[in-house]
Amino acid sequence: MVDNPLRNLPSVDQLLGHPLLQKMVDQVSHSAVTQKVRTVLDQVREGVLAATGEVHVPTPQEIAERVAGWMQRAEAEKLQVVVNATGVLLHTGLGRAPLPKAACDRIAALSQRYGSVELDLAEGTRGSRTAALEALLCELTGAEAATVVNNCAAATMLALGALAGGREVIVSRGQLVEIGGSYRLPEVMTVAGCHLREVGTTNKTRIDDYARAIGAETGALLRVHPSNYVVYGFAEEASLKDMVQLAQQKQVAMIDDIGSGALIDFSRFGLQREPVVKDSVAAGATVTLFSGDKLLGGPQCGIVVGQKQAIKKLTQHPMMRAVRIDKLTMAALQATLELYRDPEQAIESIPLLRLLNTDVANLRLRGGRIVEQLSGLESLSSVALVETQATMGGGSLPTQPLPSVAVAVTAKSLSASQLSALCRSADTPVVGRIQDDRLLLDLKTVAPTEDRMLVAALQLVR
Ligand SMILES: *Cc1c(COP(=O)(O)O)cnc(C)c1O
Repeated sequence: MVDNPLRNLPSVDQLLGHPLLQKMVDQVSHSAVTQKVRTVLDQVREGVLAATGEVHVPTPQEIAERVAGWMQRAEAEKLQVVVNATGVLLHTGLGRAPLPKAACDRIAALSQRYGSVELDLAEGTRGSRTAALEALLCELTGAEAATVVNNCAAATMLALGALAGGREVIVSRGQLVEIGGSYRLPEVMTVAGCHLREVGTTNKTRIDDYARAIGAETGALLRVHPSNYVVYGFAEEASLKDMVQLAQQKQVAMIDDIGSGALIDFSRFGLQREPVVKDSVAAGATVTLFSGDKLLGGPQCGIVVGQKQAIKKLTQHPMMRAVRIDKLTMAALQATLELYRDPEQAIESIPLLRLLNTDVANLRLRGGRIVEQLSGLESLSSVALVETQATMGGGSLPTQPLPSVAVAVTAKSLSASQLSALCRSADTPVVGRIQDDRLLLDLKTVAPTEDRMLVAALQLVR
């Protein structure tokens, strides 16, 4: 009889005694490591039994490394705090806008206690989940009514379904957007139960194009802000004012999806004008839709402001329950919106606006200090401060470069992508970007309190 190659396989207990796995037990838990060890041992057994020729039975060291490697990769997938040194302010992959402290405090307070989520404290009766937010949103935007849902994509679906379900929605061919992932307007329209009626051309759509298409089947006109692209040159779109007038005349809804949702005028930061919510409301849109975590700088949510009757249709739609927000989002949005009562205070205390408002001279000063602290490191072959262009990201202001500076680094024994991976493995992972074979750590998106974390990550280079 041939020798059984599985006889030499270590036991679970033997493996758990291995220093590598002892470390994982300390870091994670005994039961988690045991479970992974069993799975890997099963895989090894299956592999050996399935083999037809000569097989290599892994040593205890190899099995321990396999288990530890697997667990370390799982740890790296965990949601954790990172330093955003990409230069992309609203980085969707990094959670878009960081919240103001006031919002975090409100979340902390409400998360540990009960809250008046659907209770009218004055009357002692059941109230609306978004009543307090509605009052605040009306105050800030001039709208009659408002509601809040999970994100702007949900707001679009809900508005389409509630205001134009089963009917035609007219959209310019220049505005049939893809926001990213699976969000493509023609498909969203289908899921919402509306029929897309395209008008105009990619570069030119006039009010007459809408006027010719509007008819008995029409439920709404939809305007979508081209947040993440620009059509320029020989280009034209109908104005919101003209669209509102046409919609009113034909008694159909005017849905204005402005996406980014600025509550203040961003030209004060030297940026081109983004649609401001107030302007859309003032122009007479039936409903205006925007995100809470783009230019507003608050939590992920989709905000709808507009006419009372229309908002009522949205809140009474069956889909509303599926896309409603939880009390933590309510808490964060309420605290963020309160800051906008004083725009100067908003710029001071909303992280996104504070980062945006930090001038390059300030970034250069901080960059210089970081470079100085790194200059003694033998393992780095070059450390320099370079001028860069940061961007807004999150599908906002796509063509607007924001002047910035970055610490550009190369290492003696690591490629740029290895260096980048090493920085991502730091205690507080640092995420940068690679350009011309160098790792760039852009300071536009880094808070001053995080500067030392950039230094700590680069000190890992051996
Ligand atoms: C970003 C965006 C959306 C989607 O918003 P989310 O909050 O990401 O769901 C929809 N429409 C426009 C115009 C946008 O810019």
